[in-house]
Parts: sequence; structure tokens; C-alpha cells
Amino acid sequence: MRPITSFIRRHYTDRELIVMGIAFLAITLSSQIAHAVYTPPAIFQPAAGIALAVLMLEGIALWPAILAGLLLFMAANDAPFLIALGISLGHVVHAITAVFILQKLGFDPIFRRIRDMFAFLIVSLTVSWIVPVFGILSIQTHGLMMGQAVEVTWIAWWLGTSLSNVIIGAFLMRWFAKPTFVRTKWKTFEIVSALSLLMGLSYLLFWNDTSAYGGLAIVFYILPFVWFVLSVGMRFTLLAFFLTTIVGISGIMYGFMPEGGSLSTRFIATEIFLLALAAIFYPFAAVVEERTRAARDLNAQLDRIKALLSKVQSEDRAKNEFLAVFSHELRNPLAPIVSSLEYLKIRGLPDAESTRIVEGIDERVKTITRLLDDLLDISRISRKTFKLRREILDVREVVRKSVRGMQEQATHKSIVFSSSFPDHDVVLNADPVRIEQVMLNLLSNAIKYTPAGGRVHVRLESDDAHAIIYVRDNGIGIKSEMLRRIFEPFLQLKTDHQHRSVSEGLGIGLSLTEKLVLMHGGRIEAKSEGEGRGSEFVVHIPLAPITSTAVSATSHLKTPLKVLVVDDNETAGYALGQILTDQGHRVEYATSGVEAIQKTIESKPQGIIADLGLPDMDGYALARTLREDENYGGLLIALFSSDTDKDVRKIKSVGFDRYITRPVEPEHVRIALRD
Ligand code: ADP
Repeated sequence: MRPITSFIRRHYTDRELIVMGIAFLAITLSSQIAHAVYTPPAIFQPAAGIALAVLMLEGIALWPAILAGLLLFMAANDAPFLIALGISLGHVVHAITAVFILQKLGFDPIFRRIRDMFAFLIVSLTVSWIVPVFGILSIQTHGLMMGQAVEVTWIAWWLGTSLSNVIIGAFLMRWFAKPTFVRTKWKTFEIVSALSLLMGLSYLLFWNDTSAYGGLAIVFYILPFVWFVLSVGMRFTLLAFFLTTIVGISGIMYGFMPEGGSLSTRFIATEIFLLALAAIFYPFAAVVEERTRAARDLNAQLDRIKALLSKVQSEDRAKNEFLAVFSHELRNPLAPIVSSLEYLKIRGLPDAESTRIVEGIDERVKTITRLLDDLLDISRISRKTFKLRREILDVREVVRKSVRGMQEQATHKSIVFSSSFPDHDVVLNADPVRIEQVMLNLLSNAIKYTPAGGRVHVRLESDDAHAIIYVRDNGIGIKSEMLRRIFEPFLQLKTDHQHRSVSEGLGIGLSLTEKLVLMHGGRIEAKSEGEGRGSEFVVHIPLAPITSTAVSATSHLKTPLKVLVVDDNETAGYALGQILTDQGHRVEYATSGVEAIQKTIESKPQGIIADLGLPDMDGYALARTLREDENYGGLLIALFSSDTDKDVRKIKSVGFDRYITRPVEPEHVRIALRD
């Protein structure tokens, strides 16, 4: 006895021994129960499905439990030993073969994927032949079964084994492979009611006489099945089939029996019906399961991405806040330093050495201030608290001013500056301070990255829609693979340590420059033929929009013009009138909407500049009235106190051609009234 126990102990874990014990009992008992309903040649084989599930879930090594369970059952029913052995071995070989093939196919007993279900169905139906082969051959060696009986038995036995695999095997595998599950109360309620309905219908179909309804009974049975499979998933579909099979087989045995019917024929017919039902609904359930799972996975992934995104966003926000506070706080102590330096310079310094030192400090402080301003701007743009103060301007002025501003720095490094401009206005609706900032950044980079004695050329052009500014140098150039990335923030090209040492940047200049250009609706690109071959930065900024009425209205205008100034603030109106007179125009005044309309009709001005807030009607209403029925076809200019984009759109929509922003500057007036 001892060696046997130690052999078993060596080969099986406690858990396996317990499972083997349960499998042994289950096989003996279920076979005994099936024996009670045995109506030759119809035969139902619960042992086949149980064996398949046990070996699949717990390992092929557990086969002795199957053999022992079947042998005991056979012995209890007085089967001749060889027949008992043949049938029992048949079951063992059948289960081992099925499990082996399924494992090779990568089968997952939870039936997660459609292919698991197909693999299972195909293997279950084919391998089932093994049981009747062993069984019938061992019976025949006893000379017990011959002729036609054999053929019928083959099919009946295969059918019983297949059904057992498909119904009991699948059910046990799915339920024991993953025994825990969570459902909401509502879902549980739904499942219980759906199962009860199905069982009720199974009872009606299998236990009662449905011949009066003909084929219709099946339809009423199958429809709830469709709903069931769609709504409850694989696990409960398999349970439903298991229960239906029990109700079905017991119904055949103990329920309604038509007169003259053969029990075994009905039994086989029922088995075929159940198998066909499973062959249809199992793949169906698998498709539903796979879809649901995919959708769930996708949703989970989406949730993860959303969470990550919001984390990144909040980190980004925190970083921007920090940058803003950081640069702001650092600028504060700089102010007294700057004024102290100014004071020192004004008071005069005792000797050349001190002057040199103070100038050195002054230069460094200016650089720091500029960098902090850039940082502040970047963080403002990122936080969307940055506003452009747009106005109508001639960009030639801005570019000229920037070139003049950088001239000293260039001369200091012996770099030759040259520039070329068109001889007509290039009018933008842009923020002059920011356009200048763009220019200063590009020019100071050009100086920084061009060795002494080099050249920097600035060229301004315009096409139909854009002002185009070229800043070209013959300096160190940019590698082609870096050109694409050069506008990324904090990027500095570490090509050459010598050049890096001349740089005092943070790598935010170009990033800010690009952002500013984009905010103006423009674009910027960097070009270079490679290291040592110079660089060129090209900026496109859209020209100020002029509506078509304005073009037609202004095309025939000639200075001097007759201009009507409409402003209820007489002092302000008069100041504007003065500017107009200085520019050679003739001026008339109106202080209300009604007066403006009267004057327009009487003296037919060629240009009207109207304040938007008038006492009797606002500027929008005035513009609409003037443009109605083509009362007035001249140039209509709005006088703005604020210049947000929304207002610009609104004034355009009511018929204004252009606008000027307060405080009114002569240059703006000139541009607004130009041909
Ligand atoms: P930095 O503050 O370092 O100048 P920028 O954003 O202005 O930062 O520029 C980023 C990088 O682009 C610089 O470090 C430099 O390597 C390269 N770069 C910018 N302008 C030029 C230029 N005109 N010629 C060559 N390289 C340039």
C-alpha cells in the first residue's frame, strides 16, 4: 500500500487528488443516471463531456480518474470486463486526444474569441468518433453486435458523445475556468427571468404535445433564444443549453409520448435538435461575446488615454503657471537694477574701466530682461491670456525700425546689414509691437549665428495676400534634419561648442516668434543649405482685409477727399478733423446719427469716419442705414475704442470697409483713406 500512496503523492498535488475524486464520482453517478434513460440504440454519454472538461482544466495527467469512474460504473452494471475496459479506454483516449488538439490550437476554455468556439465545436464533433470505435470494436470482439445494429449504433453513439462534449463539456469548462463573476442586481434579475422563461418554454416544447402548433412551436422557442444569447453572454448561454438538455431528455423519457412513437427515435431526434441548436447559437454567442469584449477594451483604453491626457494638460498648465510667476517675480528685482544702472550712466563714471564694467552689466541685464519677457509671453500664449493689439499699419515702417534697432549690435560684431523694401505701402492689420518682436528675434539670431564680418540681408515683399519678410544671413547655417524642429521650444542645436558659447538663449526665441506669426494668421519657415552655408527665415503675414465694396469705392478716390467725421464727442471729433485737414482733406462734422444721415444726403461725402457710440443710434445702425438702398457708396470707416476680432467681424458685416483704433494716429488715418 505504501509504495502506491507515495507514488500518487509524488505525481499529484492535493488539489489534483480532490479534483480526481470529484471527477470519479461525477462520472460514475452521471453514467448511472444516463443508464436509467438508456433506450438502445440512443445513448447519452455525460462521461464524455465531464472527462473533456476535467482534463482540459486540470491536466491530462488526471485520466486515471476517468478510467476508474467508468470501470466502476460498468462493473456495477455487470458488463463483461473486456467490454468495460474497451469503452472506458475509449473515453480516456477520446478526452486526451481532444484536449491535446485543443491545446495545440491555443484554445481558451473561457471562449473569449470566436476562433475558440469554432475550434471547440470542430474538435468535439470529430474526436467523438473515438468512443464508438473503441466501444463497438470491444463489443464485437465478444461477438455481441452484428449487422445493421452496428451502423445505427455508430451514429447514435457518436451523437451521444458529441452532444455530451458540446453541452456538458463546454458548460463545465466555461463555468469552472473562471468561477467568479460580478453582475449588477439588474443584470442578475434579467438573467434569472430570461433563464426561467427559456426553461418554461423548454418544458412546453419537450414535455407536452405541441403537434397542434406544427413547426410554429419551434419558432416561438428559438426567438427567445436569440434574445437570450444577445443579452446575457456566453456563460449563461452555455448554462441555458445545459439546463435545456436536461429538461429535453427528461421530457422525452417522462413527458408526453405520442401514440405509437418510439422512445429511442424521439431521443435521437431530440439529440440532433439540441446539437443543431448549439451549432447555431454557440458561434452566435461567441460573436456577441467578442464584440462586447472588444468594445469594453476599447472603452477602457479610451478612459486611460483620457486620464493621461488630462494629467498631461494639468501638468502643462502647472508648468505654464510656474513660468509666468517665475518670470514675473524675476523681473521685479531687475527694475531697480536697471534704474540704478541708468543713474550711474547719467551721473558719469570716474574712469574708462568702470564705464566698461557698467556697460557690460547693462548689456547682460538687458539680455536677461528680454529672456524673461519671452518666457512670460510664451506662458501667456499657452494659457491663452495673450492678446494682440492689432491696428492698421504699414509694415515697412516696423521692419525699418527693427533694422535700425539692431544696427548697433551688428556694427559691433562687424556684420553688414542691408535691406530692401517695396516702394508702396504694405498694409497689415497687426500688432506693431509683436511684429517688431518677431523681427528683432530673427535679426538677433542672424547676428548671433553669423561670424564677424558676415552679412545679413532683410527683404520685404508682398503678393496678393501676404507681406513676405526674408531675413537671410551667411552664417553657420542649420543642418537639414534640424530645420523641421527648429521652432520647437527649448531646442538649441548643439552643433558646435564654439558657437554655443556665443549664444545666450534658452531656445525659446524661435518658438515664440513662430507663435506670434501664427497668431497673426501667418506662417514662418526656416531654410538653409546646410552647415556653414547660411540661413534664411521667411515670414508670411496676411495683408489687412479690404472688403470688395471698399475696393470699388476707393478705386476712384482721389485726394483731397470730402470726409464726414461723426462723433458726439466734439473735442475728439475736432482733433480727428484737424488730422484730416493736415492731410489735405475737406472735413465736415456730425454729432449724431440723424445729423450724419442728413449731411450724407446733402453734401455727398466720399469718406465717413464714424464713432460707434452715438447718442441716438449706434454706429452699426448708422452704417446699415447708410448702406441701405445704396444711399451711400463711399468709404465707411469705423472708429474703435477696442479692437477685438469679434468687433471687426461685426463692423464688416454691417457695411464698414475699414476701421481706426483710438487713440487716432495720423498714419492710421492716412492708410485708412488711401486709394
Ligand atoms: P536661442 O535662444 O538658442 O537662440 P532660438 O529659439 O532663437 O533660441 O533658436 C533655436 C536654435 O536655432 C538656436 O539655438 C540655433 O542653434 C538655431 N538658429 C536660430 N537662428 C539661426 C540662424 N540664423 N542661423 C543658424 N542657426 C540658427
